[in-house]
Amino acid sequence: MSQAIHSQSVAEAGDQHSFLSNIKGADGFRNYAAEARSSVKDFYRLNHRHQTLEFVLAKEAEYAPKNRARMGIWEALEHLNALVDDSDPDLGLPQIVHALQTAEAIRQDGHPRWFILAGLIHDLGKVLTLFGEPQWAVVGDTNPVGCAFSDKIVYSEFFMDNPDYGNPMLQTPGGIYKEGCGLDNVHLSWGHDEYLYQVVKDYLPREASWMIRYHSCYVVHREGEYAHLMNGRDDETLRWVRAFNPYDLYSKCEVEPEVEALKPFYQELIAEYFPEKINW
Ligand code: FE
Ligand code: FE
Repeated sequence: MSQAIHSQSVAEAGDQHSFLSNIKGADGFRNYAAEARSSVKDFYRLNHRHQTLEFVLAKEAEYAPKNRARMGIWEALEHLNALVDDSDPDLGLPQIVHALQTAEAIRQDGHPRWFILAGLIHDLGKVLTLFGEPQWAVVGDTNPVGCAFSDKIVYSEFFMDNPDYGNPMLQTPGGIYKEGCGLDNVHLSWGHDEYLYQVVKDYLPREASWMIRYHSCYVVHREGEYAHLMNGRDDETLRWVRAFNPYDLYSKCEVEPEVEALKPFYQELIAEYFPEKINW
């Protein structure tokens, strides 16, 4: 995967026929103040209370053996069909619709096939709900744990209820981390991003796995917080995460893709990178 291909593909996103150039009313998305769905606020109250460093380390260890299921990628997509995301203020659409809308928008802009695949699968970690995890441990924005909570995290006032908030060791800017340790050494609140990253990273180009691990970490990729934890490589990492983000965010619309018509294209794409079944 040469850098030239990457740069060209990101540049293409700006041409006049692209998906990105046709985004209308983009400011209307992620509008938490509008309280489009009141469950969103309740969701973050629980999420911020319970996502402690101890909880995150325990979940990382619990899921590391990947012994919950053997499942194909398309199969996982179909399992998610019924799930609606409580943390999403924008739309209550089934997950397979969001997966295909994201992937199709990336495809429309002429990006490489691995980029389209990242769009298709980026939320598959939400199968955690099938393993009995509550929504606050699956979806929503993520944030670093083990160091001070940024006040730029959505509904950051709810961290007052988090036990780590009362632990001075965990509330310095660096917390348990060395300055410049690099984002890949930082523990993020547990959810579908980190989980899917661990499940698929060995099958995908690293750019695709970065998009997956950080796509919900708005406090880092959008707000630019926690720069003191980053190393020289993280600029590139975040460039890819930011290239991905508009497709995740702005492809949500009420026009539903035709799942059966698109299935052959996506099954072929999945088979290029993944075996028939993988460990979850
Ligand atoms: Fe997501
Ligand atoms: Fe998404």
